Amino acid sequence: MPDSVDYIIVGQGLAGSALAMHLFSMKKKFVVIDNPSGNRSTVVAAGLFNPLTGKEIKKTWEADSIFPYLHEFYQSCERITGKKFFFQVPIYRPFLSVEEQNEWMAKSNEVIFKGYVKEIFTKPEYKEVKNSYGGILLNHSGYLDTNAYIQAVREFLKTQNAFRQEEFTENEIQFENETVVYQNLPVKAILFCQGTYSLSSKYWKWMPIRSMKGETLKIKLASGLKIIPNRGVYVVPSSDGSMVGATYNYHDKSESITNDAKIELTGKLRDLLNLEFEIVNQKWGLRPTTPDRRPMLGKHPEINQFVIFNGLGTKGVSLAPYMAKTLINYLEKGIAINKAVDISRYYSLYSRFVS
Ligand SMILES: Cc1cc2nc3c(=O)[nH]c(=O)nc-3n(C[C@H](O)[C@H](O)[C@H](O)COP(=O)(O)OP(=O)(O)OC[C@H]3O[C@@H](n4cnc5c(N)ncnc54)[C@H](O)[C@@H]3O)c2cc1C
Repeated sequence: MPDSVDYIIVGQGLAGSALAMHLFSMKKKFVVIDNPSGNRSTVVAAGLFNPLTGKEIKKTWEADSIFPYLHEFYQSCERITGKKFFFQVPIYRPFLSVEEQNEWMAKSNEVIFKGYVKEIFTKPEYKEVKNSYGGILLNHSGYLDTNAYIQAVREFLKTQNAFRQEEFTENEIQFENETVVYQNLPVKAILFCQGTYSLSSKYWKWMPIRSMKGETLKIKLASGLKIIPNRGVYVVPSSDGSMVGATYNYHDKSESITNDAKIELTGKLRDLLNLEFEIVNQKWGLRPTTPDRRPMLGKHPEINQFVIFNGLGTKGVSLAPYMAKTLINYLEKGIAINKAVDISRYYSLYSRFVS
């Protein structure tokens, strides 16, 4: 291990991995500390990225910047690690009525959707999907095999002597003038990328992170899919089966899979597909969400050397690369963080917490 580093990154989920790969590209000295034994949102995620989301299908926030960059970023990570984990696959959303079909025929010509709509079908196009009224096929979508990505980044960081598999313990932080020392290692700043674990941090528990439980199913389908069907649930292909997701639950605090989620997902899957399926397994995880559904980046209100990257919510795959770039640009070049994602929007909560 080096004698000193510019940064320690705590956590190697989507947030920590994206920061690490940016710092590597900038030739910075850093070490990632991660204890993968706990429940991580990243490794249960289906890894979908989708520029048009929601019941009404709206373009996601900042899509025109975030989507081109995520393609560039994950493809560069594939080149650096020599592993494959990024897959561009069109998403197919079947229409439920003639009205919806007509609405989209008109909407797809609007400038705002230019480049995002690949094709509109007014007749059934895919026999595997229930699509009597046709559907809409989207561009710039696909999935990240999150397990393969995390594993590839970890193995790569080990080759750079930049990874420690252990628990990061806040009690072992010491302050020496402007420098922070962690277990005898002097560091310019600590980048906290802990997902919902921040809720138990003595430095960050004032932040309004809410954990939202989600469950997914891994299934085997009677025949393969060349698209990602998405209506009520999505079906994402993966090397050893297809992932079906997800549930969204703020109230269930149980740390286990549930029968309710299985019933919900299988019901929606039957509404979407014409194919027989077999359930292989079921997983659960906790998404780190925020009240305004925007990530949180920036410095601790009092401790200048502590930096947060959190709140990736339901869209970690698409947000992490662009937000990591934003944060590194701020730390290394002093470029201001967009106010919509700057942690300073919640500083008033800290004042109330300490008073
Ligand atoms: C069921 C489900 C499905 C999802 N599907 C999608 C999807 O299809 N597309 C999408 O974009 N997003 C999806 N998400 C959301 C996505 O998973 C999250 O936005 C993202 O994973 C959050 O990443 P993170 O790095 O902030 O947190 P995490 O993945 O939780 O990573 C935090 C890491 O920090 C480590 N850590 C914390 N504290 C310590 C410590 N003290 N010492 C050492 N290590 C520590 C943890 O062990 C963990 O490895 C889904 C989430 C769930 C639950």
